[in-house]
This record gives sequence, structure tokens and C-alpha cells, in this order.
Amino acid sequence: MPDWFKRSKSPEVPEGAFVKCTGCNAILVTKDFERDNKVCPRCAYHHPLSANERIAMLTDEDSFVEFGNDIAATDPLTFPGYAQKLTAGHSEETGRNDGLVTGRASINSRPVVLAISDFQWGRLAGTMGSVFGEKFAVAADVALAENRPLITFCASGGARMQEGLVSLMQMAKTSHAVAKLRDANIPYIVVLTHPSTGGAVASYASLGDVIYAEPGATVALSGERVAAQAQTHKVPANYRTAEFALEHGMIDRVVHRRDIQSYITRTLLFMQSPSK
Ligand SMILES: [Zn+2]
Repeated sequence: MPDWFKRSKSPEVPEGAFVKCTGCNAILVTKDFERDNKVCPRCAYHHPLSANERIAMLTDEDSFVEFGNDIAATDPLTFPGYAQKLTAGHSEETGRNDGLVTGRASINSRPVVLAISDFQWGRLAGTMGSVFGEKFAVAADVALAENRPLITFCASGGARMQEGLVSLMQMAKTSHAVAKLRDANIPYIVVLTHPSTGGAVASYASLGDVIYAEPGATVALSGERVAAQAQTHKVPANYRTAEFALEHGMIDRVVHRRDIQSYITRTLLFMQSPSK
């Protein structure tokens, strides 16, 4: 066979150079995908972000200073497999004690306190246990003491069943923390991301002065399976989405990820401007 007829070797494609969109299966260049904060340029599917990625996207460079990482979780029910998940979460490269990340930061030079859920941490689905609740309450206390707005990004499977009743108590605890901010006229902004469900939506994540959500995010009290079991009449196919929540007045706006920093900044400008 002549040389020119042999199939030429395809050029080497470095591993991880491309990613496939979950929404439309388009093949995207990883570098562009990350530059776009993991939103597909074709179908606008918002892929999950870690807490660190959200902080990088949202805050002024090097302004984030974390706190609350010294609170340790217990395993009050000795729930099977829970201790291992906690250990796995601790040993992740984040070195964090929980799926809620709290700290001080600035957004377009405006000082804020952040409380950001990391859905992946310990494979615990951003659920709310005792450490989550305490970190949220501490974040609200810092916001109160320093007169900084509190901004939370929710991505949560709800209350952490491995802590039983203790996790349900966090709903009251976080709601009380928000009430203290409200009494002191400290702005509290919520951004619901996929998925925002269960005890989180039934407490702190529904109490924002302003509530934004990412497009297509699941926003619902119960997961799909439980919802299906409980349904006694037909519901619209999209009733567990951010868009449905917007249509029914539960949230204020669905905001594309690239615009969220500017929305938060403008909201703070509005809420913190001196009254006439
Ligand atoms: Zn896509």
C-alpha cells in the first residue's frame, strides 16, 4: 500500500479538552465552558458549580475570607454510613467541615457575608445538618454585627436525614437567624440553584428579601419520587422549576448566571441607599 493511502494518525486530543453538555449533548471546549461559568452557550443549561467556583465568579479577587470551619459535626443517631461520609467530606481537597461555606467577601467593592452550599461535599447533597445550621446562624450574626448584607446560594437536598430531628431543628434555627436580620434591616438575598428542595426551601431559602433563581433549577419542597407519591391530582410538568416558581410569585426573578453578580450589586445599591 502506498504511503499516501495509509490513514494518517489523528492529532492527539489532550484529555479533558472537551466536555459534553448535559442539556443538549453539544461538545464544548472545556476552556470556553469554564470561562462561561459552566453555562452551555447553545442551550443555556446551567451545570453545577462548586462553592469555590461560585465564590470566584461572584466576589472581588482575593476578598473572600472564610470563617466557621472549626465547627465539627456529630453523628447523633449513629446513622449507618454517615460517619464515613463526614470523613470523606473532611478529606476532600476543600478541607471543609460541611457543605455550607461561609465567609466575608466583597462584591464590586461592597462588603457582604456569604453562605454558599456545596452540593457535592461528602456526597451529602448540600443537606442541612447541625453544622450547616450553626454556620448559617454564625454568618447571620456576623452580618448583623458588622452591618453587612447576607447573601446565600442554595443547592440542597433539604434536611439531612442522617441527623433526624436535629436536622429538622435547623429549619427553625436558620429562620430565626433571618428574622434577626430582618428586624435590623440588614439585606438578605437568596439565589436558588439546582436543586433547591426540602427543608432548605421550607426555611431560610424562601425568606430572602429578594429571591433569585438560576434558569431551569429545580425549586420544590419534595423530591420527584415523594411528590409523585403524594399527588392526588394532575400537576403541570414544569411545576418543580424556577420558572414555575416565578410565574406563581414565589421568587422575584430567574437570572442567567452571567448576570447574577450585576443583579446582586444593583439590589444591594437599591436596598442600601439612604432613604429620603
Ligand atoms: Zn447545551
